[in-house]
Amino acid sequence: MARPMGLALAVLLVAGGAAFHVLSGLVVDQAREDAGAFLSQAEATIDDWLDRYRALPRLYARDPRIVSAMAGDPRPGALDDLSRELAEWNGIAGTSDTYVMAADGTTVAASNWDSDISFVGRNFGFRPYFSDAMQGENGRFFGLGTTSGLRGYYLSAPIRQNGAILGVIVVKVSIPALESVLAESSHPIFISDDAGVVILSTLPEFRLTTLRPIPEDRQALIDRTRRYDLARLDPAPLSDMRGAGGDWPLVSAPVRGPAEARRTYLQTDRALTGETWRLHLLYDVGAVRQQLWTMGVAIVAAGIAIAALAALGLQRRERLIQRLADRERDRLRLERRVALRTVALSEANARLEIEVDERRAAEQTLRQTQNELVQAGKLAALGQMSAALSHEFNQPLTAIRTYSENAAAFYEAGRGDRAAENIGRVLRLTEKMAQLSKRLTRFARRSGDDVGPVDLDQVLSEALALVAARVDRSEARIEITGDRGLLVQGGATRLMHVAMNLIGNALDAVPPGRPPRIAIHIAARGGKVSMEVTDNGTGVPEDALPHIFDPFFTTKEVGKGLGLGLSICYNIVRDFGGTMEARNRPEGGAAFTVTLEAAERLPVAAE
Ligand code: ADP
Repeated sequence: MARPMGLALAVLLVAGGAAFHVLSGLVVDQAREDAGAFLSQAEATIDDWLDRYRALPRLYARDPRIVSAMAGDPRPGALDDLSRELAEWNGIAGTSDTYVMAADGTTVAASNWDSDISFVGRNFGFRPYFSDAMQGENGRFFGLGTTSGLRGYYLSAPIRQNGAILGVIVVKVSIPALESVLAESSHPIFISDDAGVVILSTLPEFRLTTLRPIPEDRQALIDRTRRYDLARLDPAPLSDMRGAGGDWPLVSAPVRGPAEARRTYLQTDRALTGETWRLHLLYDVGAVRQQLWTMGVAIVAAGIAIAALAALGLQRRERLIQRLADRERDRLRLERRVALRTVALSEANARLEIEVDERRAAEQTLRQTQNELVQAGKLAALGQMSAALSHEFNQPLTAIRTYSENAAAFYEAGRGDRAAENIGRVLRLTEKMAQLSKRLTRFARRSGDDVGPVDLDQVLSEALALVAARVDRSEARIEITGDRGLLVQGGATRLMHVAMNLIGNALDAVPPGRPPRIAIHIAARGGKVSMEVTDNGTGVPEDALPHIFDPFFTTKEVGKGLGLGLSICYNIVRDFGGTMEARNRPEGGAAFTVTLEAAERLPVAAE
């Protein structure tokens, strides 16, 4: 942060400096131009003003009254008349004095002839304007009036007649009058003569001061022409400030008003055309300084504003970078956590897959075991039925033997019809035995895992046929009620096993001495088919009800029951997508309900 700030500050300083340099250059140029314009204006004013008087002596010199007066007019009082005339002209032209000098330098007529300081009779032959005119030139001279002590500008012209110079006419113009015209200028103005003496100035302090020391030979000339009193000339109150203003010609000068106050000016000067004078202008640089100062302050303020903005921008940028870095760090942290989690998840997934495999294998084993159990159960049932079955087979066998013996006897006795009748009975009995044998074989066969539509009526009739002998022996009565001709989702042999189990348990539950009454009620409802097997037995003890479908739960004595019957039935029904429930009936006895999905298609061979 420190380094870019330092760099920015340096750039700002350089840019500020350059801006100030360029702008101040423009301001200074403007000031110079301004000063030049003021100078030109002042020059034009002076020129105009002088022009008003320059031609006057030449014009006057041509006047016949002057010429004749100078030619030695014999008329008495002629010069007095001329003085009167001159006074009039002087008044009209607004000049200070107008007078005529004879060829020896003596004033013969003057506009101030009747005043205390009359020039008449006075000799000004020492003045250059006289000698110049006498030599045929138009004279010009600045000097202090020898009688008035006032600054004046003397303009002269030779008075000629027939080529001869008779005398000189002089017009004196008041310098203070010109000063008051120039006083309106907003910048001090002064005029210096060829000797470097300030002859005119809008600042009184400058009047009759020297801009530079006057060389001795010049001093002698000034003395001789009585231009001004050298002893009273002080140096101009100007101090050169060139050093302070670079290449600016700066000077310090007093200001009008309270004493001691000084101001800095830009000094410019130029030669006045037609004169040996120089016109000087002191251009007040206060306004320029003020402008430069304001500009400097504005640049510094702009610099500060830019610096503040830059600092703000940098700070923002810094904050943004910090925020991005924070975000990046968070992102990396998150990525690391995600990676760790992913590893953990992959491990968990792998473990889960192993577990699923194990579970599948266990299920497979369970199903196999269950099938084994079903098979074992069936064989056990067959075992239980074996006594009844042998009776079932012995009875018809005995009958077959009897009918066969009868048939043989009738055949021998020639009673063919009776013999045939007995053989017919034998045939029916063997048919019955063959059916029973087929049922047993079907029952004992291992069942598959398939599930499909099964005819519930057929299943029940097969089961009842197999338990018929036991039913007969126990004088039980089994009644089937409700809907008929229904198809359910299941396997025929496994469902027969379930039905036989429920019927067997019901027969077991009825205490001896009471004829068992078993009702099988079938009902179809909402896509389901329920089969409820009820008995008139003892019912299930209440505390045994929650465990009745648990494997190896039995209330029967050792050797009579394994406690696997209901557990296997429960699993078979669940495999078919059905449910199995047990409850005690309020009127006594238990009720077992098997609910299965109803099937619509005709049964195929699902076992
Ligand atoms: P097991 O018949 O070998 O005991 P089950 O699983 O078939 O095994 O029956 C478990 C127990 O449920 C039986 O011991 C008996 O107590 C009870 N039980 C089953 N059916 C009935 C029923 N219809 N009435 C009363 N109790 C029954």
